[in-house]
Amino acid sequence: MTDTNYKIAYFSAEIGISASLPTYGGGLGVLAGDHIKAAADANLPMCAVTLLYKEGYFRQRVDRDGNQTESYPRFDPDPLLKKLSVKFTLPLRGRNVWINAWKYSHMGLNGHTVPIFLLDTDVDENLPEDREITLRLYSGDKDHRILQEAILGFGGIKLLEMLGINDIEIYHMNEGHSALITLELFRKFKGNREELQKRCHFTTHTPVPAGHDHFSMDRLRGLLDSLIPDNLELPSIINSNRFHMTELGLYFSRSANGVSQLHGIVAQSQFPDFNIGHINNGVYHPYWAGKVFRELFDTYFPGWREDPELLLNIEEIPDDKFLYAHLSQKEFILDYSNSLTQRALSPDILTIGFARRTASYKRASLIFNKLDRLVDIGHGKIQIIFAGKAHPHDEDGKDIIREIVGYSHKLFGKIKVVYLENYNMWLGRLLTSGVDVWLNTPLRPQEASGTSGMKAALNGAPNLSILDGWWAEACHPGENGWGIGDPDNPNNESDADSLYDILEKEVIPVFYNDRKRWSSLMRKSIKTGVKFTAHRMIHEYATQYYHLKI
Ligand SMILES: *Cc1c(COP(=O)(O)O)cnc(C)c1O
Repeated sequence: MTDTNYKIAYFSAEIGISASLPTYGGGLGVLAGDHIKAAADANLPMCAVTLLYKEGYFRQRVDRDGNQTESYPRFDPDPLLKKLSVKFTLPLRGRNVWINAWKYSHMGLNGHTVPIFLLDTDVDENLPEDREITLRLYSGDKDHRILQEAILGFGGIKLLEMLGINDIEIYHMNEGHSALITLELFRKFKGNREELQKRCHFTTHTPVPAGHDHFSMDRLRGLLDSLIPDNLELPSIINSNRFHMTELGLYFSRSANGVSQLHGIVAQSQFPDFNIGHINNGVYHPYWAGKVFRELFDTYFPGWREDPELLLNIEEIPDDKFLYAHLSQKEFILDYSNSLTQRALSPDILTIGFARRTASYKRASLIFNKLDRLVDIGHGKIQIIFAGKAHPHDEDGKDIIREIVGYSHKLFGKIKVVYLENYNMWLGRLLTSGVDVWLNTPLRPQEASGTSGMKAALNGAPNLSILDGWWAEACHPGENGWGIGDPDNPNNESDADSLYDILEKEVIPVFYNDRKRWSSLMRKSIKTGVKFTAHRMIHEYATQYYHLKI
């Protein structure tokens, strides 16, 4: 394949490849990175486009009282990224803004490469305000957001043209941030919507309305002006003077999907004018399996990276080796935690992990709903590790961190609770591969997928979660984990009571008194993880939505 012979262009405002590349904030970016890695392994002729955030998301510190502060260390792209010689401008805010492009080459297991092109306005010729457009991820300011999305959308399509990449058959928009590509394609295909629809696919990732960008048409025209085609007719969108990025992407796509069965249904009712199917998210198993499990799998199941189904034979690994691998990984995360917190977490104690962005629907503090009951059940028997960033402008999210750290002080001497700083892919792997149980307590049905639970499952950690997102399908209660609450009647009180009941009657007694059953829960979790790999996901995208002519 020559350097320009790509058929699929994957657009995402964030892409998480590893903790070394600060171009992601959370689950959306990590999923995009896993999608690309699996595409490379599957030899798909794909290239990807995103932005280069030289000051990335941010480095999080959490002080003794749970106050989050942010710093923005500057990223040095060399030698991970190669600067390309192409350079071009887009008219934004009434002046030309220069854009540079960088390339990261992701090589798959058998040598096939998927390039990621990263757009960057931090260029000498630009005014300081323009150099800052791509500097940081999600500043929260609407104008800034529009400018970033314009760089990604209009700039991304322009870049592909400049690179001579002319044979794209599928433009895959990963979430609405990239939907402005449709306006540039609209120009390219001379206003013919059908020509666009043949080529566009859209994936939506959240049922939470605030997760979908929309802007007033006036604001958009004020900033982008000549970039918006004159002959554009978007009935539902323009009439209300509300430019909704998801609706825009859906309007020009022939197909669209949510990211779990339940989310597909929810997304369909959110956007009734369009057809929305679903493909379950998956995680890139060669990355997310912890170090000691990777080595064990190499010994027992050579080829498991190419063919994760080999892990379905997990029973072949004897208990001593299997449990030792988990214990080693548990010690990595406990040592790391102890080196930072002085809370002396012990490898003998049932360790519960919870790590995610502190959005309020994720209800990170649900387990503290009735402190006395938690102490009754868990004193000396459980320890809990938290991690997660609040968006820099999200005061509610920051309150959640303070609240959890507050509980950790209240529970001092009774139940050990730690909050680890700076959740990222590195810490994510350390946590999901090391804890005994993975907890997730979102308010159903707002968690579209919940990929961290898949990472934990792959590492033999049973999930203890609300029946939302992927877990609504994956949970076999008592076999690979437990489902919290009544799915038809979600609320804080009864969900918390259900969580306490399960901890008291199932999780704690089985962990301490029935090692055989615990080992079985772990092995079944790994088998569940096998069904939620990015390997499976990419094959579903390829057969259901990419329809390549090759
Ligand atoms: C996997 C991952 C996520 C997404 O996990 P959810 O369960 O969807 O919240 C977010 N951030 C990081 C760093 C991750 O590794």
